[in-house]
Amino acid sequence: MNTESHKRIVIVGAGVGGLATGALLARRGFDVTVFERQGTTGGCASTFMREGYRFDAGATVGCGFQKKGPLDLLGVELGIRWPLMNCPVAWQYVSADVDLELSAAKQRILERFPSSRLFWEEQERVASLLWRLSGDVLPWPPAGPGDYRSLIGKAFSARAAALPLFRLMNASALRWLSFHGLDSDPAFLRFIDAQLLISVQTTAEHASALNAAIALDLPARGTHRLTGGIGRVAGELARSLQQYGGRVFCGRGVSAIRLEGKRVHSVVTDDGETIAADIVVANVMPEALGALLGKQSFFSPKAGKASRAEWSAFVLYLGVAENIFSGAADHMQIVEPEGALGEGRSLFLSVSPSDDSLRAPEGYRAVTVSTHTRPGPWFEAHEQGVEAYAALREDYTRRVMLLLSSRFPGIRRNTALLFAATPVTWERYTGRSHGFVGGYPQTSIFGVRGPQTPCGNLFLVGDSVFPGQSLPGVVTGARRVVDLVRRKFGDPVPTFADTTRDG
Ligand SMILES: Cc1cc2nc3c(=O)[nH]c(=O)nc-3n(C[C@H](O)[C@H](O)[C@H](O)COP(=O)(O)OP(=O)(O)OC[C@H]3O[C@@H](n4cnc5c(N)ncnc54)[C@H](O)[C@@H]3O)c2cc1C
Repeated sequence: MNTESHKRIVIVGAGVGGLATGALLARRGFDVTVFERQGTTGGCASTFMREGYRFDAGATVGCGFQKKGPLDLLGVELGIRWPLMNCPVAWQYVSADVDLELSAAKQRILERFPSSRLFWEEQERVASLLWRLSGDVLPWPPAGPGDYRSLIGKAFSARAAALPLFRLMNASALRWLSFHGLDSDPAFLRFIDAQLLISVQTTAEHASALNAAIALDLPARGTHRLTGGIGRVAGELARSLQQYGGRVFCGRGVSAIRLEGKRVHSVVTDDGETIAADIVVANVMPEALGALLGKQSFFSPKAGKASRAEWSAFVLYLGVAENIFSGAADHMQIVEPEGALGEGRSLFLSVSPSDDSLRAPEGYRAVTVSTHTRPGPWFEAHEQGVEAYAALREDYTRRVMLLLSSRFPGIRRNTALLFAATPVTWERYTGRSHGFVGGYPQTSIFGVRGPQTPCGNLFLVGDSVFPGQSLPGVVTGARRVVDLVRRKFGDPVPTFADTTRDG
Protein backbone atom coordinates (compact mmCIF):
# COMPACT_ATOMS: atom_id res chain seq x y z
CA MET A 1 0.00 0.00 0.00
CA ASN A 2 1.30 3.41 -0.96
CA THR A 3 1.21 5.82 1.96
CA GLU A 4 3.06 8.67 0.26
CA SER A 5 1.49 11.90 1.53
CA HIS A 6 -0.52 14.46 -0.43
CA LYS A 7 -1.96 12.35 -3.22
CA ARG A 8 -3.32 14.87 -5.74
CA ILE A 9 -6.99 14.18 -6.33
CA VAL A 10 -8.90 15.94 -9.10
CA ILE A 11 -12.68 15.82 -8.99
CA VAL A 12 -14.55 16.54 -12.21
CA GLY A 13 -17.89 18.15 -11.33
CA ALA A 14 -19.21 19.84 -8.20
CA GLY A 15 -22.52 18.04 -7.81
CA VAL A 16 -23.34 16.75 -4.33
CA GLY A 17 -21.62 13.45 -5.21
CA GLY A 18 -18.35 15.11 -6.24
CA LEU A 19 -18.31 17.59 -3.38
CA ALA A 20 -19.13 15.01 -0.69
CA THR A 21 -16.29 12.81 -1.96
CA GLY A 22 -13.94 15.79 -2.14
CA ALA A 23 -14.77 17.11 1.32
CA LEU A 24 -14.37 13.69 2.96
CA LEU A 25 -11.02 13.14 1.22
CA ALA A 26 -9.77 16.67 1.99
CA ARG A 27 -10.64 16.05 5.64
CA ARG A 28 -8.41 12.98 5.49
CA GLY A 29 -5.51 15.13 4.24
CA PHE A 30 -5.67 14.43 0.50
CA ASP A 31 -4.88 17.32 -1.82
CA VAL A 32 -8.25 17.86 -3.50
CA THR A 33 -9.11 20.11 -6.45
CA VAL A 34 -12.63 20.27 -7.89
CA PHE A 35 -13.41 21.62 -11.36
CA GLU A 36 -17.00 22.59 -12.14
CA ARG A 37 -18.03 23.75 -15.60
CA GLN A 38 -20.96 25.85 -14.42
CA GLY A 39 -20.62 29.10 -12.52
CA THR A 40 -22.07 27.51 -9.40
CA THR A 41 -21.99 24.24 -7.46
CA GLY A 42 -24.80 21.71 -6.96
CA GLY A 43 -25.73 20.44 -10.44
CA CYS A 44 -29.18 18.83 -10.23
CA ALA A 45 -29.40 19.96 -6.60
CA SER A 46 -28.54 23.63 -7.16
CA THR A 47 -30.47 26.80 -6.43
CA PHE A 48 -30.36 29.72 -8.85
CA MET A 49 -31.49 33.37 -8.76
CA ARG A 50 -33.94 34.84 -11.28
CA GLU A 51 -35.76 38.17 -10.91
CA GLY A 52 -35.69 38.22 -7.12
CA TYR A 53 -36.55 34.51 -6.69
CA ARG A 54 -34.27 31.69 -5.62
CA PHE A 55 -35.44 28.59 -7.47
CA ASP A 56 -34.38 25.02 -6.70
CA ALA A 57 -33.33 23.72 -10.12
CA GLY A 58 -34.23 20.03 -9.66
CA ALA A 59 -34.05 18.44 -6.22
CA THR A 60 -36.27 20.17 -3.67
CA VAL A 61 -36.85 17.70 -0.82
CA GLY A 62 -34.10 17.36 1.77
CA CYS A 63 -33.96 13.61 2.45
CA GLY A 64 -31.43 11.77 4.60
CA PHE A 65 -30.96 14.52 7.22
CA GLN A 66 -32.69 12.48 9.95
CA LYS A 67 -30.56 11.46 12.94
CA LYS A 68 -27.92 9.00 11.67
CA GLY A 69 -29.16 9.45 8.09
CA PRO A 70 -26.45 9.79 5.41
CA LEU A 71 -26.55 13.61 5.33
CA ASP A 72 -26.66 13.86 9.13
CA LEU A 73 -23.60 11.62 9.47
CA LEU A 74 -21.82 13.57 6.72
CA GLY A 75 -22.53 16.87 8.50
CA VAL A 76 -21.24 15.49 11.81
CA GLU A 77 -18.06 14.19 10.20
CA LEU A 78 -17.35 17.40 8.29
CA GLY A 79 -18.44 19.77 11.05
CA ILE A 80 -21.29 21.19 8.98
CA ARG A 81 -24.45 22.48 10.65
CA TRP A 82 -27.02 22.21 7.87
CA PRO A 83 -29.43 25.18 7.77
CA LEU A 84 -32.45 22.91 8.23
CA MET A 85 -36.14 23.54 8.69
CA ASN A 86 -38.40 20.63 9.60
CA CYS A 87 -41.28 19.71 7.33
CA PRO A 88 -44.20 18.42 9.45
CA VAL A 89 -45.61 16.91 6.25
CA ALA A 90 -43.06 15.37 3.88
CA TRP A 91 -45.40 15.78 0.94
CA GLN A 92 -49.07 15.57 0.10
CA TYR A 93 -50.32 13.05 -2.47
CA VAL A 94 -53.41 14.03 -4.41
CA SER A 95 -55.07 11.89 -7.08
CA ALA A 96 -58.82 11.97 -7.76
CA ASP A 97 -60.48 11.31 -4.37
CA VAL A 98 -57.25 10.18 -2.67
CA ASP A 99 -55.67 12.97 -0.63
CA LEU A 100 -52.92 11.83 1.76
CA GLU A 101 -50.46 13.73 3.86
CA LEU A 102 -47.28 11.66 4.07
CA SER A 103 -45.34 12.05 7.28
CA ALA A 104 -43.63 10.07 10.05
CA ALA A 105 -46.97 8.55 11.02
CA LYS A 106 -48.61 6.26 8.47
CA GLN A 107 -52.00 7.04 10.01
CA ARG A 108 -53.49 8.74 6.92
CA ILE A 109 -52.35 5.94 4.62
CA LEU A 110 -53.76 3.28 6.95
CA GLU A 111 -57.10 5.10 7.25
CA ARG A 112 -57.44 5.18 3.46
CA PHE A 113 -55.92 1.72 2.79
CA PRO A 114 -56.52 -0.28 6.02
CA SER A 115 -55.60 -3.64 4.51
CA SER A 116 -52.05 -2.42 3.87
CA ARG A 117 -51.01 -2.45 7.57
CA LEU A 118 -48.89 -5.64 7.45
CA PHE A 119 -47.17 -4.49 4.28
CA TRP A 120 -46.12 -1.20 5.91
CA GLU A 121 -44.90 -3.03 9.02
CA GLU A 122 -42.65 -5.21 6.89
CA GLN A 123 -41.56 -2.23 4.79
CA GLU A 124 -40.47 -0.40 7.95
CA ARG A 125 -38.43 -3.37 9.20
CA VAL A 126 -36.69 -3.84 5.85
CA ALA A 127 -36.00 -0.13 5.39
CA SER A 128 -34.55 0.21 8.93
CA LEU A 129 -32.11 -2.55 8.19
CA LEU A 130 -31.13 -1.05 4.85
CA TRP A 131 -30.63 2.42 6.39
CA ARG A 132 -28.42 0.82 9.03
CA LEU A 133 -26.32 -0.89 6.36
CA SER A 134 -26.02 2.24 4.22
CA GLY A 135 -25.06 4.52 7.13
CA ASP A 136 -21.73 2.74 7.02
CA VAL A 137 -19.85 2.02 3.77
CA LEU A 138 -21.82 -0.50 1.75
CA PRO A 139 -19.38 -2.48 -0.43
CA TRP A 140 -21.87 -3.02 -3.24
CA PRO A 141 -21.43 -4.11 -5.98
CA PRO A 142 -18.56 -6.11 -4.49
CA ALA A 143 -15.20 -5.49 -6.15
CA GLY A 144 -12.96 -8.11 -4.61
CA PRO A 145 -12.38 -10.55 -1.76
CA GLY A 146 -12.27 -7.70 0.79
CA ASP A 147 -15.76 -6.57 -0.22
CA TYR A 148 -17.16 -10.10 -0.04
CA ARG A 149 -15.64 -10.54 3.43
CA SER A 150 -17.16 -7.25 4.54
CA LEU A 151 -20.60 -8.17 3.13
CA ILE A 152 -20.54 -11.55 4.87
CA GLY A 153 -19.55 -9.79 8.09
CA LYS A 154 -22.44 -7.35 7.75
CA ALA A 155 -24.94 -10.13 6.99
CA PHE A 156 -23.65 -12.08 9.97
CA SER A 157 -23.95 -9.13 12.36
CA ALA A 158 -27.49 -8.42 11.12
CA ARG A 159 -28.33 -12.15 11.40
CA ALA A 160 -32.05 -12.83 11.91
CA ALA A 161 -32.96 -9.22 11.13
CA ALA A 162 -31.56 -9.72 7.62
CA LEU A 163 -33.90 -12.60 6.74
CA PRO A 164 -36.57 -10.42 5.03
CA LEU A 165 -33.81 -9.09 2.77
CA PHE A 166 -33.20 -12.54 1.33
CA ARG A 167 -36.93 -13.03 0.68
CA LEU A 168 -37.13 -9.74 -1.24
CA MET A 169 -33.74 -9.73 -2.92
CA ASN A 170 -35.03 -10.88 -6.29
CA ALA A 171 -38.64 -9.70 -6.04
CA SER A 172 -40.21 -6.73 -7.78
CA ALA A 173 -42.19 -4.29 -5.67
CA LEU A 174 -45.37 -5.54 -7.35
CA ARG A 175 -44.58 -9.11 -6.36
CA TRP A 176 -43.97 -7.94 -2.81
CA LEU A 177 -47.37 -6.21 -2.82
CA SER A 178 -48.90 -9.44 -4.11
CA PHE A 179 -47.50 -11.31 -1.05
CA HIS A 180 -49.81 -9.00 0.94
CA GLY A 181 -52.76 -9.22 -1.48
CA LEU A 182 -52.31 -5.55 -2.41
CA ASP A 183 -51.75 -5.84 -6.13
CA SER A 184 -55.35 -5.40 -7.23
CA ASP A 185 -56.52 -2.10 -5.72
CA PRO A 186 -55.97 0.48 -8.52
CA ALA A 187 -55.95 3.48 -6.15
CA PHE A 188 -53.33 1.88 -3.88
CA LEU A 189 -51.22 0.78 -6.85
CA ARG A 190 -51.42 4.26 -8.35
CA PHE A 191 -50.23 5.71 -5.04
CA ILE A 192 -47.30 3.26 -4.79
CA ASP A 193 -46.37 3.72 -8.46
CA ALA A 194 -46.29 7.49 -8.06
CA GLN A 195 -44.03 7.21 -4.99
CA LEU A 196 -41.68 4.82 -6.74
CA LEU A 197 -41.41 6.82 -9.95
CA ILE A 198 -40.07 9.88 -8.12
CA SER A 199 -37.64 7.88 -5.97
CA VAL A 200 -36.50 4.86 -7.95
CA GLN A 201 -37.41 6.04 -11.47
CA THR A 202 -39.76 3.19 -12.25
CA THR A 203 -43.08 1.75 -11.14
CA ALA A 204 -43.95 -1.26 -8.94
CA GLU A 205 -43.98 -3.73 -11.82
CA HIS A 206 -40.27 -3.13 -12.49
CA ALA A 207 -38.88 -1.65 -9.25
CA SER A 208 -36.75 -3.85 -7.04
CA ALA A 209 -38.54 -4.57 -3.75
CA LEU A 210 -35.48 -3.63 -1.70
CA ASN A 211 -35.08 -0.27 -3.43
CA ALA A 212 -38.82 0.26 -3.02
CA ALA A 213 -38.57 -0.38 0.73
CA ILE A 214 -36.15 2.54 1.12
CA ALA A 215 -38.05 4.78 -1.31
CA LEU A 216 -41.34 4.28 0.54
CA ASP A 217 -39.58 5.09 3.79
CA LEU A 218 -38.42 8.59 2.81
CA PRO A 219 -41.52 10.49 4.03
CA ALA A 220 -41.61 8.46 7.25
CA ARG A 221 -37.98 9.27 8.09
CA GLY A 222 -38.79 12.95 7.97
CA THR A 223 -37.80 15.45 5.32
CA HIS A 224 -36.25 18.87 5.67
CA ARG A 225 -36.03 22.15 3.83
CA LEU A 226 -32.85 24.16 3.71
CA THR A 227 -33.03 27.88 4.36
CA GLY A 228 -32.15 29.58 1.07
CA GLY A 229 -32.83 26.46 -1.00
CA ILE A 230 -31.42 22.97 -1.59
CA GLY A 231 -28.29 24.48 -3.17
CA ARG A 232 -27.08 25.18 0.37
CA VAL A 233 -26.07 21.51 0.62
CA ALA A 234 -23.49 21.88 -2.15
CA GLY A 235 -22.53 25.33 -0.85
CA GLU A 236 -21.78 23.98 2.64
CA LEU A 237 -19.87 20.99 1.23
CA ALA A 238 -17.71 23.29 -0.93
CA ARG A 239 -17.02 25.50 2.09
CA SER A 240 -16.03 22.49 4.19
CA LEU A 241 -13.80 21.11 1.43
CA GLN A 242 -12.00 24.47 1.26
CA GLN A 243 -11.67 24.62 5.05
CA TYR A 244 -9.86 21.29 4.89
CA GLY A 245 -7.41 22.76 2.39
CA GLY A 246 -9.08 21.75 -0.91
CA ARG A 247 -9.93 23.99 -3.87
CA VAL A 248 -13.13 24.43 -5.88
CA PHE A 249 -12.99 26.12 -9.28
CA CYS A 250 -16.40 27.01 -10.72
CA GLY A 251 -16.74 28.13 -14.33
CA ARG A 252 -13.82 25.88 -15.24
CA GLY A 253 -14.71 22.54 -16.79
CA VAL A 254 -12.57 19.56 -17.66
CA SER A 255 -12.40 18.76 -21.38
CA ALA A 256 -10.13 15.69 -21.27
CA ILE A 257 -8.68 13.10 -18.92
CA ARG A 258 -5.26 11.84 -19.99
CA LEU A 259 -4.20 8.21 -19.68
CA GLU A 260 -0.94 6.37 -19.82
CA GLY A 261 -1.78 2.72 -20.26
CA LYS A 262 -4.49 2.13 -17.71
CA ARG A 263 -3.51 4.92 -15.36
CA VAL A 264 -4.80 8.44 -15.37
CA HIS A 265 -2.05 11.02 -14.97
CA SER A 266 -3.68 14.40 -15.64
CA VAL A 267 -6.77 16.33 -16.70
CA VAL A 268 -7.04 19.14 -19.21
CA THR A 269 -9.27 22.07 -18.31
CA ASP A 270 -11.52 23.88 -20.80
CA ASP A 271 -9.00 26.74 -20.86
CA GLY A 272 -6.26 24.33 -21.95
CA GLU A 273 -4.27 23.89 -18.75
CA THR A 274 -2.96 20.41 -17.91
CA ILE A 275 -3.33 19.53 -14.25
CA ALA A 276 -1.39 16.54 -12.89
CA ALA A 277 -3.45 14.07 -10.89
CA ASP A 278 -2.69 10.89 -8.95
CA ILE A 279 -6.38 10.03 -8.64
CA VAL A 280 -9.38 11.33 -10.58
CA VAL A 281 -13.00 11.12 -9.41
CA ALA A 282 -15.53 11.82 -12.16
CA ASN A 283 -18.88 13.17 -10.98
CA VAL A 284 -20.32 12.68 -14.47
CA MET A 285 -22.33 10.10 -16.39
CA PRO A 286 -20.34 7.04 -17.61
CA GLU A 287 -20.85 8.09 -21.27
CA ALA A 288 -19.45 11.55 -20.46
CA LEU A 289 -16.46 9.93 -18.77
CA GLY A 290 -15.90 7.83 -21.91
CA ALA A 291 -15.88 11.05 -23.96
CA LEU A 292 -13.43 12.75 -21.58
CA LEU A 293 -11.10 9.77 -21.97
CA GLY A 294 -11.58 9.73 -25.75
CA LYS A 295 -12.69 6.11 -25.38
CA GLN A 296 -16.43 5.76 -25.90
CA SER A 297 -16.05 1.97 -25.74
CA PHE A 298 -14.33 2.22 -22.39
CA PHE A 299 -17.38 1.10 -20.47
CA SER A 300 -18.59 -2.20 -21.83
CA PRO A 301 -22.38 -2.46 -22.21
CA LYS A 302 -22.26 -5.38 -19.77
CA ALA A 303 -20.85 -3.32 -16.91
CA GLY A 304 -23.73 -1.73 -15.07
CA LYS A 305 -26.36 -3.14 -17.41
CA ALA A 306 -29.03 -2.41 -14.81
CA SER A 307 -27.84 1.21 -14.44
CA ARG A 308 -29.04 2.85 -17.66
CA ALA A 309 -30.76 6.18 -17.20
CA GLU A 310 -34.09 6.55 -19.01
CA TRP A 311 -35.79 9.71 -17.81
CA SER A 312 -35.27 13.40 -18.03
CA ALA A 313 -37.46 16.10 -16.51
CA PHE A 314 -39.66 18.93 -17.72
CA VAL A 315 -39.61 21.60 -15.04
CA LEU A 316 -41.55 24.84 -14.67
CA TYR A 317 -40.24 27.59 -12.42
CA LEU A 318 -42.99 29.92 -11.24
CA GLY A 319 -43.24 33.04 -9.11
CA VAL A 320 -46.73 32.81 -7.63
CA ALA A 321 -48.75 34.99 -5.21
CA GLU A 322 -48.63 33.15 -1.89
CA ASN A 323 -52.36 33.29 -1.10
CA ILE A 324 -52.85 30.58 -3.77
CA PHE A 325 -51.15 28.02 -1.53
CA SER A 326 -52.83 28.74 1.81
CA GLY A 327 -53.22 25.52 3.81
CA ALA A 328 -51.28 23.39 1.31
CA ALA A 329 -48.14 21.40 2.15
CA ASP A 330 -44.85 22.80 0.82
CA HIS A 331 -44.43 19.72 -1.39
CA MET A 332 -47.28 18.10 -3.26
CA GLN A 333 -47.63 15.27 -5.73
CA ILE A 334 -50.54 15.80 -8.09
CA VAL A 335 -51.37 12.73 -10.15
CA GLU A 336 -54.01 12.08 -12.77
CA PRO A 337 -55.96 8.94 -11.79
CA GLU A 338 -55.28 7.14 -15.08
CA GLY A 339 -52.73 6.90 -17.88
CA ALA A 340 -49.00 6.31 -17.79
CA LEU A 341 -47.25 8.45 -15.21
CA GLY A 342 -44.98 11.32 -16.25
CA GLU A 343 -45.30 13.53 -19.36
CA GLY A 344 -47.43 16.05 -17.48
CA ARG A 345 -49.80 13.45 -15.95
CA SER A 346 -47.93 13.34 -12.63
CA LEU A 347 -46.36 16.41 -11.06
CA PHE A 348 -44.13 17.11 -8.10
CA LEU A 349 -44.70 20.62 -6.83
CA SER A 350 -42.47 22.40 -4.31
CA VAL A 351 -43.35 25.81 -2.94
CA SER A 352 -40.72 27.84 -1.07
CA PRO A 353 -41.54 27.99 2.65
CA SER A 354 -43.55 31.01 3.85
CA ASP A 355 -40.89 31.74 6.49
CA ASP A 356 -37.92 31.74 4.10
CA SER A 357 -37.65 35.36 3.03
CA LEU A 358 -34.51 34.59 1.01
CA ARG A 359 -36.49 32.70 -1.61
CA ALA A 360 -39.03 35.14 -3.08
CA PRO A 361 -40.18 38.78 -3.09
CA GLU A 362 -42.66 39.61 -0.32
CA GLY A 363 -46.10 38.12 -0.91
CA TYR A 364 -44.76 35.60 -3.45
CA ARG A 365 -43.33 32.08 -3.44
CA ALA A 366 -40.72 30.43 -5.63
CA VAL A 367 -42.24 27.28 -7.10
CA THR A 368 -40.53 24.35 -8.83
CA VAL A 369 -42.84 21.85 -10.50
CA SER A 370 -41.50 18.86 -12.40
CA THR A 371 -42.75 15.91 -14.41
CA HIS A 372 -40.83 12.94 -15.78
CA THR A 373 -40.33 13.04 -19.54
CA ARG A 374 -38.55 10.91 -22.15
CA PRO A 375 -35.79 12.94 -23.79
CA GLY A 376 -36.16 11.61 -27.38
CA PRO A 377 -38.98 13.88 -28.65
CA TRP A 378 -37.36 16.97 -27.13
CA PHE A 379 -34.11 16.49 -29.00
CA GLU A 380 -35.98 15.69 -32.23
CA ALA A 381 -37.99 18.91 -31.87
CA HIS A 382 -34.82 20.83 -31.04
CA GLU A 383 -33.18 19.53 -34.22
CA GLN A 384 -36.23 20.48 -36.28
CA GLY A 385 -35.77 24.09 -35.24
CA VAL A 386 -36.82 26.86 -32.89
CA GLU A 387 -40.50 26.69 -33.72
CA ALA A 388 -40.96 22.94 -33.20
CA TYR A 389 -39.06 23.10 -29.92
CA ALA A 390 -41.05 26.13 -28.67
CA ALA A 391 -44.33 24.42 -29.63
CA LEU A 392 -43.43 21.31 -27.60
CA ARG A 393 -42.42 23.45 -24.64
CA GLU A 394 -45.72 25.34 -24.90
CA ASP A 395 -47.65 22.07 -25.04
CA TYR A 396 -45.99 20.75 -21.85
CA THR A 397 -46.39 24.10 -20.11
CA ARG A 398 -50.12 24.01 -20.89
CA ARG A 399 -50.46 20.39 -19.64
CA VAL A 400 -48.66 21.15 -16.38
CA MET A 401 -50.58 24.37 -15.74
CA LEU A 402 -53.87 22.57 -16.43
CA LEU A 403 -53.18 19.86 -13.86
CA LEU A 404 -51.91 22.47 -11.37
CA SER A 405 -55.08 24.51 -11.88
CA SER A 406 -57.20 21.48 -10.95
CA ARG A 407 -55.72 21.75 -7.47
CA PHE A 408 -55.03 25.50 -7.31
CA PRO A 409 -57.73 27.33 -9.27
CA GLY A 410 -56.55 30.81 -10.23
CA ILE A 411 -52.86 29.88 -10.26
CA ARG A 412 -52.43 31.14 -13.84
CA ARG A 413 -53.70 34.67 -13.06
CA ASN A 414 -51.52 34.78 -9.96
CA THR A 415 -48.29 33.75 -11.67
CA ALA A 416 -45.89 36.67 -12.02
CA LEU A 417 -42.99 34.72 -13.56
CA LEU A 418 -42.89 31.47 -15.55
CA PHE A 419 -40.13 29.71 -17.47
CA ALA A 420 -39.24 26.12 -18.25
CA ALA A 421 -36.34 23.65 -18.30
CA THR A 422 -36.51 20.77 -20.77
CA PRO A 423 -34.18 17.79 -21.36
CA VAL A 424 -32.23 20.10 -23.70
CA THR A 425 -31.75 22.55 -20.82
CA TRP A 426 -30.66 19.76 -18.48
CA GLU A 427 -28.10 18.57 -20.99
CA ARG A 428 -26.73 22.10 -21.36
CA TYR A 429 -26.49 22.83 -17.64
CA THR A 430 -25.35 19.50 -16.24
CA GLY A 431 -23.44 17.98 -19.15
CA ARG A 432 -25.67 14.89 -18.94
CA SER A 433 -26.26 13.50 -22.41
CA HIS A 434 -29.94 13.66 -23.45
CA GLY A 435 -30.59 15.50 -20.20
CA PHE A 436 -30.84 12.18 -18.36
CA VAL A 437 -31.43 13.14 -14.74
CA GLY A 438 -32.63 11.31 -11.66
CA GLY A 439 -30.30 8.33 -12.01
CA TYR A 440 -31.21 4.90 -13.33
CA PRO A 441 -34.44 2.92 -12.84
CA GLN A 442 -33.77 0.77 -9.76
CA THR A 443 -35.05 -2.51 -11.10
CA SER A 444 -32.56 -4.79 -9.42
CA ILE A 445 -29.72 -4.60 -6.95
CA PHE A 446 -27.76 -6.94 -9.23
CA GLY A 447 -25.91 -5.83 -12.35
CA VAL A 448 -25.68 -2.26 -11.09
CA ARG A 449 -22.70 -0.04 -11.82
CA GLY A 450 -20.14 0.54 -9.09
CA PRO A 451 -17.60 3.37 -8.85
CA GLN A 452 -14.65 1.35 -10.17
CA THR A 453 -13.45 1.80 -13.75
CA PRO A 454 -10.91 -0.13 -15.81
CA CYS A 455 -8.31 2.39 -14.54
CA GLY A 456 -7.14 1.72 -11.01
CA ASN A 457 -6.91 5.43 -10.14
CA LEU A 458 -10.14 6.63 -11.75
CA PHE A 459 -13.54 6.45 -10.04
CA LEU A 460 -17.12 7.40 -10.83
CA VAL A 461 -19.39 9.06 -8.29
CA GLY A 462 -22.94 10.35 -8.45
CA ASP A 463 -26.38 9.04 -9.24
CA SER A 464 -25.30 6.87 -12.18
CA VAL A 465 -23.61 4.47 -9.77
CA PHE A 466 -25.07 2.38 -6.94
CA PRO A 467 -27.14 3.22 -4.92
CA GLY A 468 -28.34 5.83 -7.41
CA GLN A 469 -30.33 9.01 -7.27
CA SER A 470 -31.07 11.46 -4.44
CA LEU A 471 -28.88 13.30 -2.00
CA PRO A 472 -28.67 10.36 0.45
CA GLY A 473 -27.98 8.08 -2.53
CA VAL A 474 -25.06 10.07 -3.93
CA VAL A 475 -23.61 10.69 -0.45
CA THR A 476 -23.69 6.94 0.23
CA GLY A 477 -21.93 6.42 -3.12
CA ALA A 478 -19.35 9.09 -2.19
CA ARG A 479 -18.46 7.19 0.99
CA ARG A 480 -17.82 4.09 -1.07
CA VAL A 481 -15.37 6.00 -3.31
CA VAL A 482 -13.60 7.45 -0.26
CA ASP A 483 -13.30 3.96 1.21
CA LEU A 484 -11.87 2.54 -2.05
CA VAL A 485 -9.36 5.40 -2.37
CA ARG A 486 -8.22 4.99 1.22
CA ARG A 487 -7.94 1.21 0.93
CA LYS A 488 -6.02 1.43 -2.31
CA PHE A 489 -3.75 4.39 -1.66
CA GLY A 490 -3.71 4.70 2.12
CA ASP A 491 -4.31 7.88 4.11
CA PRO A 492 -1.82 10.70 3.75
CA VAL A 493 0.11 11.02 7.03
CA PRO A 494 -0.57 12.86 9.24
CA THR A 495 -4.20 13.54 8.32
CA PHE A 496 -5.74 16.95 8.68
CA ALA A 497 -8.43 15.27 10.77
CA ASP A 498 -5.75 13.99 13.14
CA THR A 499 -4.04 17.36 13.55
CA THR A 500 -7.32 19.18 14.20
CA ARG A 501 -8.54 16.45 16.55
CA ASP A 502 -5.31 16.56 18.51
CA GLY A 503 -5.39 20.37 18.63
C1 LIG B 1 -36.22 17.35 -11.29
C2 LIG B 1 -35.43 16.63 -10.23
C3 LIG B 1 -35.96 16.49 -8.97
C4 LIG B 1 -35.23 15.83 -7.97
N1 LIG B 1 -35.74 15.79 -6.70
C5 LIG B 1 -34.96 15.32 -5.70
C6 LIG B 1 -35.36 15.52 -4.35
O1 LIG B 1 -36.38 16.14 -4.09
N2 LIG B 1 -34.55 15.03 -3.37
C7 LIG B 1 -33.37 14.38 -3.66
O2 LIG B 1 -32.67 13.95 -2.71
N3 LIG B 1 -32.97 14.21 -4.94
C8 LIG B 1 -33.72 14.68 -5.96
N4 LIG B 1 -33.29 14.59 -7.25
C9 LIG B 1 -32.06 13.82 -7.54
C10 LIG B 1 -30.79 14.58 -7.15
O3 LIG B 1 -30.88 15.92 -7.52
C11 LIG B 1 -29.62 13.94 -7.87
O4 LIG B 1 -29.63 12.53 -7.71
C12 LIG B 1 -28.27 14.45 -7.35
O5 LIG B 1 -28.30 15.83 -7.14
C13 LIG B 1 -27.22 14.09 -8.41
O6 LIG B 1 -25.96 14.52 -7.98
P1 LIG B 1 -24.66 14.09 -8.78
O7 LIG B 1 -23.53 14.47 -7.92
O8 LIG B 1 -24.77 12.69 -9.21
O9 LIG B 1 -24.64 14.87 -10.17
P2 LIG B 1 -24.99 16.31 -10.72
O10 LIG B 1 -25.93 17.01 -9.82
O11 LIG B 1 -25.39 16.14 -12.14
O12 LIG B 1 -23.60 17.08 -10.67
C14 LIG B 1 -22.59 16.87 -11.62
C15 LIG B 1 -21.85 18.17 -11.82
O13 LIG B 1 -20.75 17.95 -12.70
C16 LIG B 1 -20.63 19.07 -13.57
N5 LIG B 1 -19.91 18.63 -14.78
C17 LIG B 1 -20.33 17.75 -15.72
N6 LIG B 1 -19.37 17.57 -16.65
C18 LIG B 1 -18.32 18.33 -16.27
C19 LIG B 1 -17.01 18.56 -16.81
N7 LIG B 1 -16.60 17.97 -17.95
N8 LIG B 1 -16.18 19.41 -16.17
C20 LIG B 1 -16.57 20.01 -15.00
N9 LIG B 1 -17.79 19.85 -14.47
C21 LIG B 1 -18.65 19.01 -15.09
C22 LIG B 1 -22.05 19.48 -13.84
O14 LIG B 1 -22.11 20.82 -14.29
C23 LIG B 1 -22.69 19.26 -12.46
O15 LIG B 1 -22.63 20.43 -11.67
C24 LIG B 1 -33.98 15.26 -8.27
C25 LIG B 1 -33.44 15.39 -9.56
C26 LIG B 1 -34.15 16.09 -10.52
C27 LIG B 1 -33.52 16.28 -11.86
